[in-house]
This record gives sequence, structure tokens and C-alpha cells, in this order.
Amino acid sequence: MTTILAKHYSLPQKLFCGLKPTSQLTIASQPIKFKSVPECPVCDSRVVQNYGQVKVTVARRDVVLNYDECKECGSAFQNPVLPGKGRRLIYDESYMQNYGSDHVNLQSPNEHIWRMVMTDNRFQSLLELAPKRPQMYLDIGFGRGLTLEIAQLYGLKAFGIDVSYAAWQEAREKGLNASHGELSGVIEKGIIRPGSMDLITLFDVVEHYDDLMRELGLIRSILRPGGMLYLHTPDFSTSDQENKHRYFSLDHRFIFSQKSLRSVVEAAGFDVAECAPSQNIGNPDHAIHPAIKEDPRFEAAADYVEKKSSMLYEGHWHIGLVAFN
Ligand SMILES: [Zn+2]
Repeated sequence: MTTILAKHYSLPQKLFCGLKPTSQLTIASQPIKFKSVPECPVCDSRVVQNYGQVKVTVARRDVVLNYDECKECGSAFQNPVLPGKGRRLIYDESYMQNYGSDHVNLQSPNEHIWRMVMTDNRFQSLLELAPKRPQMYLDIGFGRGLTLEIAQLYGLKAFGIDVSYAAWQEAREKGLNASHGELSGVIEKGIIRPGSMDLITLFDVVEHYDDLMRELGLIRSILRPGGMLYLHTPDFSTSDQENKHRYFSLDHRFIFSQKSLRSVVEAAGFDVAECAPSQNIGNPDHAIHPAIKEDPRFEAAADYVEKKSSMLYEGHWHIGLVAFN
């Protein structure tokens, strides 16, 4: 299919002013036109201002993306925006090679252990924040499937869905319980029943959606009353002012602020319990799960894990949001 997601995630990117944004892109042999939006797609405010442009490399050619900033809710959004059809075309088999490898290079044993430790810690925090121990767990956009593996270590019945076929194939090879596609399709097929989930997580997913309100409505429909939702997404209200544009990329429609993410989740009918820099959600010092410590690669990775842990949250880059249905 396509090779669109070339290495355009080397961060931080350079921010430009006054460059003309790209108006059309050919993805998988299909010409896709970018669309201009007159108002903030999160809060409908027209009090928006140009924030700047970044250049990304797509199929060895420069693409200029423009982002506006909403003065009401503090989000940044792509404008003109690559329509949903275009974003869906980029989640093909090249996703895991290009996108996946930049972020989660699990070929490196050190990186693998580090990701396991980090995911383990985050998952333990979520278990502590849930008033009742969750049993049924869904991760939407599971990517490399680490949260599903970790959830299973804690005895949860873990299920994942992902729009990437390659991610689904990899999960299936690992024996994980996973479906390929979007949430609406999985619900329509009856794979997930209404009100059946105790805990649902979305790590680095909501910034990709066309219609977050619609997706949150679907999520609520499958979450049991009192069930818990956790969202993790890049933060435009980051304290790292010089790198606020670090997550501008072809498939990121929005970069939420803490204020805008909270308001959209509340508008969808959830009770938001916490919305903060992700490192402030829960306890940062959980004991590492014995199964991770017993991994033969663990000892060799100890220095790497310690170094990455100390670097990770400089400038806090992600929002963590905990909400209940
Ligand atoms: Zn807004």
C-alpha cells in the first residue's frame, strides 16, 4: 500500500512562520485535499490565531502543516486539516515500521524493558485509582500491545482494538485478545457488549480522531456505570514552551490543552476525576512486577531504565485524564 509515514517524528521539529501550507497530498495513489476549518474544532470558538508551521517529510517530499491555536480553550489544531479519509490511509502496514519504530523500538532490549517498567507503573496507578478492582479491560489503539500484556499480569481480562492491521497481526501472534478496526465496527459486530467494560484506556489516540465527541459517546456506551476511562495525549498547555509544537504531525488533528480535554470529556457526560500532567497521575514509585524483574534482559537494562526515568518528564509532555461513567 502506501509508504507515507516516513521519518517525520524526529522531535523537536522546527517551527516556521509564513510558510504556505500544503493543500493536497497523494496517499496510496489517492489525491487527498486538505480542508480549511473556520473555527476551533474542539470548542467552536472563532477566536483563533495562527501558531505556526512545521515541515514534515512524507514519501521523500516536504509537506508543510499549519496549526492554529484557540484562544478560548487553548487547543492547537491542524488547519487546513488532512481529512479523516487521508488519516485512515496512513494506518496501513507501514505504520508499524515507520511510526511504531520511532516511538517504540522494541527491537532494542533496553527500550523494551523500559517500556514494560513504565507501562507497569502507570497501570498500577490506574488500578489504585479505580474504586473497584477492574476485571474487563479494553485498550483502544493498543499499538505494540504492552498495556494488554501488563493488564494480564494483574489478572485482568484484556481486550484491544487497533486500526492498524500490522498491530493486530502482531498482537494475534503474541496470543493477545485483539480486534482490527474502529470502535464503531467492533460494537456493531457485537464483539464488545454495551456496559461490559470496567476500564478503558486510550494512549496517544484522541489527538487522531475526526469526531472525539462521537467516539466518547461510543466509549460510554460500552463502559459500565461507574467504569473508569483513562486518556493520555500530548499536551499543548505544556510547561515546555519552546517545544509546544513538538507533536505537530500529519496524523495529529488536535493537540489538546488540559482545559480543552477536560471540557470535551465532561461534555460527553463523564465525571472527570483528574486532568493533569501524566506523571502526576498516581504514584510514581510502584514496585516493579516480578515477571518483568525476572526477564533475563532486566539487569542489563537497569542503568538505561534509570536514566530514561529521570529524563522522561522534564517539561511534562502529556496530559493524563481519569474520568468515570
Ligand atoms: Zn477551542
